[in-house]
Amino acid sequence: MIEYKSDNEVQLMRESGRITGQTLDLLARTVQPGMTTGELDRLAEDFIRKQGAVPAFKGYRGFPKTVCISVNDEVVHGIPGNRKLKDGDIVGFDMGVIWKGWYSDSARTVAVGRIEDKAQRLLEVTRESLFKGIEKCLAGGHLYDISNAVQNHVEGHGYSVVRDLVGHGIGRNLHEEPQVPNYGPAGHGPKLRTGLVLAIEPMVNYGTHKVLMKRDNWTIVTEDGSLSAHFEHTVAITKNGPIILTLPDD
Ligand code: MG
Ligand code: MG
Repeated sequence: MIEYKSDNEVQLMRESGRITGQTLDLLARTVQPGMTTGELDRLAEDFIRKQGAVPAFKGYRGFPKTVCISVNDEVVHGIPGNRKLKDGDIVGFDMGVIWKGWYSDSARTVAVGRIEDKAQRLLEVTRESLFKGIEKCLAGGHLYDISNAVQNHVEGHGYSVVRDLVGHGIGRNLHEEPQVPNYGPAGHGPKLRTGLVLAIEPMVNYGTHKVLMKRDNWTIVTEDGSLSAHFEHTVAITKNGPIILTLPDD
C-alpha cells in the first residue's frame, strides 16, 4: 500500500532531509586522499547526533555503520572501515537520518583528489539523470515516467543503469511502497499523486549493468569491475510540483 503524506508530514520530512543534506555536504567537503572510510563515517555520525537526529542506516537489517561508503567499482552498500581513499578514487556516500520519526535518504558520489575525465563525466551524467527523474515527479503522471527519464539520459550517454536495485517510497519507514526502478516504459506504473514521497536513486555503471555481491554480504560491485556512481534525493510530489527534501539549505 502506498502512503500519502500531508503537508505537515512533508514539512517534517524536509527537516529530516535538511540534516541528511548537511551531513553529505560535510562529507563531500572533508573527504581527501589518505582518509579512511571509517573516519568519514564517524564524522557523519557525530554530526547527525549533534543535530538531535538518529542515523537511519545504523542497525538497519544489521548494517553496522552510519553511511554506506562505496568506492570505484562498488555500486552501493559499502561498509566503512580501514580502507584508505586514494587520489583518483570516486566515492559514493549514501545515508539517511530519522528525525521526529521521519526518514530521509540521499546519496552523492564525489571525487577524491583529481579524477580522470571519464570518471568525472560518469558522475555528471548520473547526477543529471537524477534531476531528469525529479522533473517527472508530477501529480497526474506515472511512476515509470521517472524511471524512463533516468534510463534515457543514462543510456543516451552509453552507460547502463543497475537493474537489481531500485529507489523506493519513504516516510515513517526507510523503504516503503512503491519501488522506483531506474528503467521502464513511460506512461506506465502507478499514478503519481500529491503527497507521494520517493527516494529516487540512479545507480549508473560505466560498463555492464550487471552487479555482484561481495563476500561481506553487503557490498554490491559491478560484475565487470567498471566504475559506478550513485546519486539520490528524497522528493515530495506536491500541488506545486516536485520538492527536493534532502537539500542542505533552503
Ligand atoms: Mg540511500
Ligand atoms: Mg534509498
